[in-house]
Amino acid sequence: MAALLDIKALRKQFGGVTALAGVDLTVNEGEILGVVGPNGSGKTTLFNSVTGIHRPTSGTVSWRGRDITGIPANAVSRAGIAYTFQQAMAFPGLSVFENVQIATEHCSKTLTNFPWTTPASLLEFVGLSGLSGEKAGILPFGRLRLLGLALALATRPSLILLDEPAAGLNDRETTTLVHLVEQFPEHGISVCVIDHDMKLMQMLCRRLAVLDFGSKIADGPTADVLDDPKVLEVYLGG
Ligand code: ADP
Repeated sequence: MAALLDIKALRKQFGGVTALAGVDLTVNEGEILGVVGPNGSGKTTLFNSVTGIHRPTSGTVSWRGRDITGIPANAVSRAGIAYTFQQAMAFPGLSVFENVQIATEHCSKTLTNFPWTTPASLLEFVGLSGLSGEKAGILPFGRLRLLGLALALATRPSLILLDEPAAGLNDRETTTLVHLVEQFPEHGISVCVIDHDMKLMQMLCRRLAVLDFGSKIADGPTADVLDDPKVLEVYLGG
């Protein structure tokens, strides 16, 4: 498997706080990689430093072999990396359909084999066809999350970064989400997901990386990582 995203020695300081202390991480083509770690371990900062929300203090981010360290968020998106936030970013006064339509129209990419080229097909995939005429602002939380996924897919990404995708979802909604995300790799979309919900991560990810105090302390097959004494200590507070 070729590395799609290759993060090297990534460091981010906020004043005296070291949020990332030199992290190496790769996301390979076709995989669903999980990044876990306790609160404050640097997971969100890692995503923000890749997607142009923060400028890394040092280190490099390469995308398909090209250095994209510190490029602005819109350039990251154009390069093919989508990011879903914990709060779905939709226009509340526009309909579900209009939201997806705008996102689709702003996508200039012409990837072949991309299965959801119209707003209707995207909405059907995420199970929101029946709500396409509703204003996004009245959607219940779980549905808004699914809309967020449709909006990310509308940019035709090769990699989607998911930030706590199941936070606030009930078990049924979580199962729906897992079922959708599991299908991404077969459509050429790799995934990197951050969450502290181990049950979700075990369902979704064959590989896990673990952050603790801004450093990566484990990286490997999910079962091995969850058996790693260093990881158990972090999670069980050893
Ligand atoms: P996680 O996502 O794993 O909970 P974060 O990346 O949010 O961790 O935070 C890592 C560390 O960086 C924490 O100590 C947090 O307080 C700090 N931090 C994150 N963002 C900022 C910011 N914008 N300004 C100052 N400190 C920040």
